[in-house]
Amino acid sequence: GAGLMKGKRGVILGVANNRSIAWGIAKACADAGAELALTYQGEALKKRVEPLASELGAHVAGHCDVTDPASMDAVFADLEERWGKIDFLVHAIAFSDKEELTGRFVNTTRENFCRTMEISVYSLAALARRAEAIMNDGGSILTLTYYGAEKVMPHYNVMGVAKAALEASVRYLAVDLGGRGIRVNAISAGPIKTLAASGIGDFRYILKWNEYNAPLKRTVTTDEVGASALYLLSDLSVAVTGEVHHVDSGYHTVGMKSVDAPDI
Ligand code: NAD
Repeated sequence: GAGLMKGKRGVILGVANNRSIAWGIAKACADAGAELALTYQGEALKKRVEPLASELGAHVAGHCDVTDPASMDAVFADLEERWGKIDFLVHAIAFSDKEELTGRFVNTTRENFCRTMEISVYSLAALARRAEAIMNDGGSILTLTYYGAEKVMPHYNVMGVAKAALEASVRYLAVDLGGRGIRVNAISAGPIKTLAASGIGDFRYILKWNEYNAPLKRTVTTDEVGASALYLLSDLSVAVTGEVHHVDSGYHTVGMKSVDAPDI
């Protein structure tokens, strides 16, 4: 991907540490020549994100909590002042109370349902609206989703409902922003052991299940998600929008457990 992103500037939201999917995407974009800005959520993550940003020569655009509109405004004011325009935005943000990422969906509380939807779904529209105002024609917006949006996965519960709404948001935003050639897509990533994923019940079992039953017989890495993200963020995908692209070793194509899968 050398040179693929040369001359492009973008902001990546959702780096928590070096295991974050957002970090895999950031490294791929930097390697391909993009100029980057990262944000962090709160002081605790600031000290993790700052050294990672400096590894890539990326700008730190400040604190951004998507439940705090003023913090989003501040980030976009910073980007506009620094660069004028941006070419891409990566949304790699989700949250739900881990108490509800186990057991039955029917027990979801109203409070956690609303909070999960606000942070994991509404934030994409909130960020896309702000990004659109400073985005060059032909820009690209990318979010991260999971197969639990399409089919019931154990323990995913309210997050599966949120991802379904996120994928629908991708399609609505693709229409809204398409007039200026701005594209909105999602990557549906296979399970990866990150901070967010550690909140999901039986996650090790889910990883093993994917390894044994995906066509490629393995899970995916954040670097591999980053490589696929380059296609959706660059001009290679100039005619692609409203798409949910699976980067999951082909797991979503399989209808039944592999006959040669070992017991887990
Ligand atoms: P992660 O914990 O590294 O990243 C999650 C990020 O969300 C963190 O940086 C956190 O700061 C941010 N965040 C949470 N609440 C926020 C708020 N209120 N305001 C701003 N930021 C907030 O985990 P990850 O797995 O890299 O998650 C990134 C995205 O990828 C998420 O949307 C997740 O659902 C999605 N995804 C993950 C997997 C997986 O198996 N890890 C699979 C498919 C999709």
